[in-house]
Amino acid sequence: MLTPQIADKGVTKHILRSFGLHASRRLGQNFLISPAVVRGVVDAAEIASGDHVLEIGPGIGTLTQGLLEAGAEVTAVELDKKLPAVLAETLRGYEHLTVVQGDILKTDIGALMGGEPFKVAANLPYYITTPILLALLEQKLPITRIVTMVQKEVAERMTAPPGGKDYGALSVAVQYHTEPEIVLDVPPNCFLPAPEVDSAVIVCVVRKTPAVAVKDEPLFFRVVKAAFGQRRKTIANALKTLGVSRERIDGALSAADVATERRGETMSLAEFAAVTDALMED
Ligand code: SAM
Repeated sequence: MLTPQIADKGVTKHILRSFGLHASRRLGQNFLISPAVVRGVVDAAEIASGDHVLEIGPGIGTLTQGLLEAGAEVTAVELDKKLPAVLAETLRGYEHLTVVQGDILKTDIGALMGGEPFKVAANLPYYITTPILLALLEQKLPITRIVTMVQKEVAERMTAPPGGKDYGALSVAVQYHTEPEIVLDVPPNCFLPAPEVDSAVIVCVVRKTPAVAVKDEPLFFRVVKAAFGQRRKTIANALKTLGVSRERIDGALSAADVATERRGETMSLAEFAAVTDALMED
């Protein structure tokens, strides 16, 4: 049975006080103090004994403890230089834990995790949620499942269908690589200190093959970026930033059966793929 012990307001305050620590706003430190939420994240990660898990930002070890109790082998990357010594105390006795001090955005995750399939679990620092998610998705790592706490508004963008204001380049990237699902809404009082925003736990099951087939993946993402970089413009005008002629753009849109006056935010992944492939022809 999972027995989260660090995930408690009194225990968290005591740990911070004992080590003379203050949660750093700059590092996005909002520590989980809800055993139910820790259990929710661990359950969503579907940990089987021996699963390799990369945890980003273990903090004082709250979620880490839940993952270890569930039988995971955890590699945790933490930027705050003060925290590895704290983790050595709070998680003393757990064998299957490796703590690495460093910036996840500068870490060679493939080399660190060693080529075997692994899962990612994290209560992400909100100031760099999107770069972290994109780095995980774009590096072609053998990740099977990503379970993260993010700002609720970001979770809604990740899962948004075409046509609404939430749908954008992040939605396309996440949905191209994974099947995302929001599994838990988390209010501010589940953290210490409480953030100013609502949060959500989102599960992204990584697809074995991308949601749509494209001949040139980098071009696909350049098309998406161009389409959303100029949201108020028609797709035909927005794609001009790619540096191709209007004639070629119109030809590609017509071949892909996308009207020139459409806007990027109305286009499905399949339509972006069709436009990309058509741009490559001739
Ligand atoms: N996992 C802990 C929990 O749930 O209570 C802490 C989560 S807190 C929201 C985010 C953590 O990420 C902090 O411990 C912070 O120091 C760490 N962090 C911030 N930027 C980071 C980076 N670039 N690389 C690795 N860790 C980072």
